Amino acid sequence: MVKKYHIWTIGCQMNSADSLHLGAALEALGCEHTADVQQADVIVLNTCVVRQSAEDRAAGFLWSLKPLKERRPETVIGLMGCMVGVKGNGRLHERFPHVDVFMPPGEAAALIEHLKALHPLIPSSPKPPGTALQSREGESPPLRKAERGPGGEVNLAVLPLHQRGRLVSAPVPVLLGCNHVCSYCIVPARRGRERSRPMDEVLAEVGALAGQGVREVVLLGQIVDRYGHDLGTGAPRLPELLAAVSQVEGIARLRFLTSHPNYFDGRLIEAMRTLPKVCEHVEVPIQAGDDEILRRMRREHSADNYRCLIGRIREQMPGCSIATDVIVGFPGETEAQFQATLDLLAELRMDVCHVAMYSPRPGTLAAKTMPDDVPAREKKRRLDAVNMLQEQVAAEINSRLLGRRVEILVEGRQKGKWKGRTRTNKLVFFDDAGGASRRGQLVEVVVTWTGPWSMQAKLEVGSTK
Ligand code: SAM
Ligand code: SF4
Repeated sequence: MVKKYHIWTIGCQMNSADSLHLGAALEALGCEHTADVQQADVIVLNTCVVRQSAEDRAAGFLWSLKPLKERRPETVIGLMGCMVGVKGNGRLHERFPHVDVFMPPGEAAALIEHLKALHPLIPSSPKPPGTALQSREGESPPLRKAERGPGGEVNLAVLPLHQRGRLVSAPVPVLLGCNHVCSYCIVPARRGRERSRPMDEVLAEVGALAGQGVREVVLLGQIVDRYGHDLGTGAPRLPELLAAVSQVEGIARLRFLTSHPNYFDGRLIEAMRTLPKVCEHVEVPIQAGDDEILRRMRREHSADNYRCLIGRIREQMPGCSIATDVIVGFPGETEAQFQATLDLLAELRMDVCHVAMYSPRPGTLAAKTMPDDVPAREKKRRLDAVNMLQEQVAAEINSRLLGRRVEILVEGRQKGKWKGRTRTNKLVFFDDAGGASRRGQLVEVVVTWTGPWSMQAKLEVGSTK
């Protein structure tokens, strides 16, 4: 009987990419996707622990599976991602005894082996992609292994069947792990040291995605602008990778994230300016606008470094949209220090600001040495203040697009309309009376309404690419 699988994913785009690979790997074993968890024989939770709220949601979902596991003990439950981490987490076995398999981020090997042991008839070849062996205690895991053909070419069945021809914009991890030690951040402990994927492997994956209907790729790394730093002198860096991925037939647009202010250099700006497929959008978090807080966050940049970078980006790429991340209520953050963040956001007028309340993460420097002393209500007040300011700023920025003609890449339908994104990553909805699918097309639209988070537009007839 065909086994049905269900993957529940939370967290960053890296997790979304890992879930796509896992789905394809399970399908290579003969499994079939189901959107209904109750129908699934194999259930995987791909988890995030960047904040307590994400961890709580994963734990809640995991507990909700306990009755199902009691009713149908043959159901296989897998836990993957940052909750497990690259070093494994022995205590999870005690906390969640109904979980069968624990997998580090992006490493499906343990689940694949478990399923093969349970069902010896599963074909052992071809080995599915993304199934590097589970790391030993304390070691960074090996890179995601690609399947190579007789001529050394890389073969990747990267998308599960239900996403083929449907997924228009696909995440592609290019740099795994992180070597920085921001004091609040659990990611380096859970995702290990920085490892760049070889460029030929990335290109093969992008080519395979293009062959499955993908038109845009988003190259991912915790500090994506450090791509290639670990591959030695002379190895390709992010500008070279962008140039090479631009050559992949079928790919119309290219994005990359997340950037760090210290590595966003002139060569990268030049690559963005000269490579037509690379979209004018940058995600570069600041986290705080006060230098003392930034120092205690161990961000290794100042508010002024950041201000200069934004100035340079805007001078050399007018119209480039810029997104940032901010944490409010970091230990010891005074009202004046918070106000410095708010003032900087008001001054720099970012297109997007992802704001989060500080959440102590066990094992991080901040959690070990800095009391979480900003009360929850105060954190919430600061969060709301940032969101209120950002709503105004984004509404004003977006209103400049009213009546303008923009190109969007259509990603799918929502509430009876087509939706897509501008090159600057702004969400646009439009109607199309014609019955044909617009998914995956580049279309020109004229913006008829703007808000802080999205826009409405009218399709320009005959503009499809
Ligand atoms: N590598 C990126 C960078 O340098 O900013 C982002 C990585 S982190 C996974 C994504 C976002 O989560 C961060 O930008 C930060 O705003 C937020 N974050 C990380 N740790 C956090 C914590 N302990 N509490 C609240 N937010 C946190
Ligand atoms: Fe975390 Fe800092 Fe690395 Fe980003 S750069 S993943 S915030 S340690």
